[in-house]
Amino acid sequence: MPSFSPRYGIIADIHSNLAALRAVLDALEREHVASILCLGDLVGYGPDPHEVIKALEGRPLHSIRGNHDRYTLGENTDQIRPATAEAIAYTRRSITPADESFLASLPDTEMFEDQVLLVHGSLRDRDEYILSNEIATANYRLFRSDYGGIYLCFFGHTHFPMIIGDGKVVRQIAPGHVLKLKFMAQYIINPGSVGQPRDGNPDAAYAVLDLGESTVTFQRVPYDIEETHSRVLAAGLQRHLGDRLRAGR
Ligand code: ZN
Repeated sequence: MPSFSPRYGIIADIHSNLAALRAVLDALEREHVASILCLGDLVGYGPDPHEVIKALEGRPLHSIRGNHDRYTLGENTDQIRPATAEAIAYTRRSITPADESFLASLPDTEMFEDQVLLVHGSLRDRDEYILSNEIATANYRLFRSDYGGIYLCFFGHTHFPMIIGDGKVVRQIAPGHVLKLKFMAQYIINPGSVGQPRDGNPDAAYAVLDLGESTVTFQRVPYDIEETHSRVLAAGLQRHLGDRLRAGR
């Protein structure tokens, strides 16, 4: 059997939600992906930062870091909401020096195998939220002008699945949706969030990129939300950080 597989798991915004990450990693094992591309925010908000880093370490993984990873590494948190800053303080207390080194080793962006660009926020600003059509379009223009020959960019940060390309911005992507990548067309794609979905669907989100078939498949997988909810309370984190997981908001 040839060992080469052109399939990759795409994940983002895990946010220390171990139960959600385990469900996604199990699903990706069934999908036989060669490796996992992660768009940052491994930690923050949730109760299990150390366990999440442990679960990812040692896997075939290409990960960048997000704003919550940077806050954990000591970036100024004065401007962020108190509940978020509290969760960052909890994260700092919960991780080991080895976990910290792992986070510190992650770049802000990565060009994977000279063909897939990974960013956390947007192409022009690591902290920008690609939510509006205006911002989506501006980033698409930049992708077209500055990244000739690169056809795929994945981003996270908003916790909303999104497809920018083929002349439109697509939201509300149904689980199981298969995007057929057109030859020589560029796409900017958000797979949704593993550990804190905000699109009204509480199931953990991920995507599978198949370079052989030229497809990106959007998937959702249920996980034990109540387990994470009780871990949030046990960690002394604010209750709403658990409650919002039930609603997927
Ligand atoms: Zn995030």
